[in-house]
Amino acid sequence: MTDKNLLRAIPKVDEILKQREWRETVALYPQGIAKDALRLVLDELRSAIKKGVVHSIPSLASIIDATKTRINLSTAPGIKRVINGTGVIIHTNLGRSLLAQSAIEALHNAACHYTNLEYDLDKGERGDRYTHCTSILKRLTHAEGSLVVNNNAAAVYLVLNTLAEGKEVIISRGELIEIGGSFRIPDVMKKSGAILREVGTTNRTYREDYEKAIQDNTALLMKAHTSNYRIKGFFHEISADELIDLGKTYNKPIYFDTGSGLLIPLLEVSIHHEPSNIELIEKGIDIVSFSGDKLLGAPQAGIILGKAPYIEAMKKNPLARALRPDKFTLSALESTLLLYLDREQAIREIPTLRMILEDKNVLLKRARRIARKVSERLKRVTVSVIFTDAEVGGGTLPDVKIPSCGIALKPHTHSIESFEQKLRALPVPVIGRIEKDTLILDMRTIIAEDETPLIDGLETALKDDT
Ligand SMILES: *Cc1c(COP(=O)(O)O)cnc(C)c1O
Repeated sequence: MTDKNLLRAIPKVDEILKQREWRETVALYPQGIAKDALRLVLDELRSAIKKGVVHSIPSLASIIDATKTRINLSTAPGIKRVINGTGVIIHTNLGRSLLAQSAIEALHNAACHYTNLEYDLDKGERGDRYTHCTSILKRLTHAEGSLVVNNNAAAVYLVLNTLAEGKEVIISRGELIEIGGSFRIPDVMKKSGAILREVGTTNRTYREDYEKAIQDNTALLMKAHTSNYRIKGFFHEISADELIDLGKTYNKPIYFDTGSGLLIPLLEVSIHHEPSNIELIEKGIDIVSFSGDKLLGAPQAGIILGKAPYIEAMKKNPLARALRPDKFTLSALESTLLLYLDREQAIREIPTLRMILEDKNVLLKRARRIARKVSERLKRVTVSVIFTDAEVGGGTLPDVKIPSCGIALKPHTHSIESFEQKLRALPVPVIGRIEKDTLILDMRTIIAEDETPLIDGLETALKDDT
């Protein structure tokens, strides 16, 4: 048949709709969705014939099969589980931190049952949704007060708007950072109504620079952790101690956006010190804020710790209501924080910490086990165990590489680019990175439950050559 005749032979939508096979199989789906999917399948067939890649009309059964696949695709949730083989632990694009089991149970509880979210069980009256997290935060950090908001960007915004609207905030030029493309400290400051007073230079800022800028209209002395970059060499920043001293001398509050900050020391990996939120509060910083889903290993949230009057003022700000977290966040955050009562327990149960500190030999065993299974089961790929460098990610500990292990895959029947693309198109997509004609999967971010779908996925990706 010529292409023209072939095109004419494509069955019409209306004809297919009348067929018994169609009615029986797609009756299970909403009408409109099924018809749209069928149209798409026939459109694809048409363009495949025009391109000369299809030379015959498929059977009705296979058209219906293809339609069902399309329907399933178009009705499945867009947010899918993926396998993170990148070795970047707090991967912002892949959802940052995984949650501890107890946090998952808290989410489940909050989803399935009514809770005392805002109900005081002792008094039998309306309560405060923040008390749950506040009491554990107080035990852990000894901060007088705390407030949880939607994320750390919201925290920065709320702190500045509450304490410095229409007034000046002094910050070092070297700390006017951008995080992840859409969060820039100077932009958030502007929106909050605070007036930015930048001091020092990009690489060197001293106590005197802050001191000279202090005046009556100064509301806040601010410091931001340069989470995702590091200036090396000819560099000086104002220390927390100097800031505290300045604040006391001039009676101005100090705010430190630690970005991630730590609640427990991670000396094993931190070459450069991540600021310790607890230490800063103990030293007398008035306010700190940090993310829930970075090094804390909790859900997305912004945690503000500080002196009681400042926290009270923020709670009263009408914006607090707009930035407030929901019951899921608060439940999962509280459960994660409770794990920090015991450092060993935190490291054992919080996936982010566990991944950062996992012994390399455990990863080596995992890599060897997966490599062995792959080479036993799959013939169209060469697999080898390699040493890699994993990263904490999420804009934390930017130059800390964590020694890790992975597998390198070299497909025989696909180009490396098409293999990588096929892995991304799997029902459980596998995300790795290409390095010198091999696809690398780092074991530090691959969890036990990933092993079976990973190997099944590799098999599927290597199966057909189209
Ligand atoms: C990550 C980060 C933020 C933004 O926090 P989100 O929780 O992503 O909103 C703000 N400041 C610093 C210093 C950060 O590292």
